[in-house]
Amino acid sequence: RAVSLANKIILITGASSGIGRAAAEQFAETGANLILVARRAERLQELKSKLETAFGIKTHTVTLDLQDIPKVEKLIPGLPAAFQEVDILVNNAGLALGKAPAQDNDVADISVMLDTNCKSLAVLTKCAAKGMIARNRGHIINISSIAASDHYAGGSIYCGTKAFVTAFTDSLRHDLVGTNIRVTAISPGAVQTEFSNIRFKGNQEAADAVYSGIQPLTADDIADQIVYAATRPANVQIADIISYATYQA
Ligand code: NDP
Repeated sequence: RAVSLANKIILITGASSGIGRAAAEQFAETGANLILVARRAERLQELKSKLETAFGIKTHTVTLDLQDIPKVEKLIPGLPAAFQEVDILVNNAGLALGKAPAQDNDVADISVMLDTNCKSLAVLTKCAAKGMIARNRGHIINISSIAASDHYAGGSIYCGTKAFVTAFTDSLRHDLVGTNIRVTAISPGAVQTEFSNIRFKGNQEAADAVYSGIQPLTADDIADQIVYAATRPANVQIADIISYATYQA
């Protein structure tokens, strides 16, 4: 009963790696056209070429640091005309930095996590929602985490940012009641991506330990969930998909 996404315009943040890249690949298979956003331009370019060649879709890349909020505000108005009417926004970009107790949190790391995971998501959502409301169609999918509700020592800022994403998403759903715009949170458990390498700042041993013995989720497992939510019939609004790796506590 999947609904076709052919020719839809889908904007994905954090498309250069992990879950965002896997979502771009799976959406491309459905025939959707894609706007790929991240900082690493060469990765976006490589993905664009691959997807356009394999699926005959149109893609547009935007090299952007999402911490630059004035530029985030200009992202959608600055798109080429053919890409301006965003049908689906996937707010996926995000990161954790460090795993220190709150009293030892690095002040710069706090800002990076809050700006990337929360502030840019709120601003990009605001900009996309305006157009969706005018067209009375759209879907906003925010990548949260089990960390929104499963809090742990050393996770004060990251857990806080993901609690923000889940609460923001649910509040947004209420704001948009009475429109055709759907709102979804996706809340993964441990997914093996570059996430842990970044969190532990290149300490490979610490990064690997996160996935040890739990057969982690893959980026494609989460992309499946994103595409599932996006392809439900119009009367079905998936509010949140919470998933764990099977052996994860
Ligand atoms: P990756 O590190 O593989 O991907 C993160 C993506 O975010 C990259 O494409 C990166 O692109 C982008 N990004 C990070 N900072 C910025 C920035 N300042 N500006 C623009 N883009 C940025 O991690 P995942 O795929 O695992 O993470 C995706 C989402 O999933 C995140 O929100 C994360 O919190 C969430 N999540 C991940 C889990 C996991 O276990 N992996 C579990 C639960 C949730 P670039 O560096 O090129 O800018």
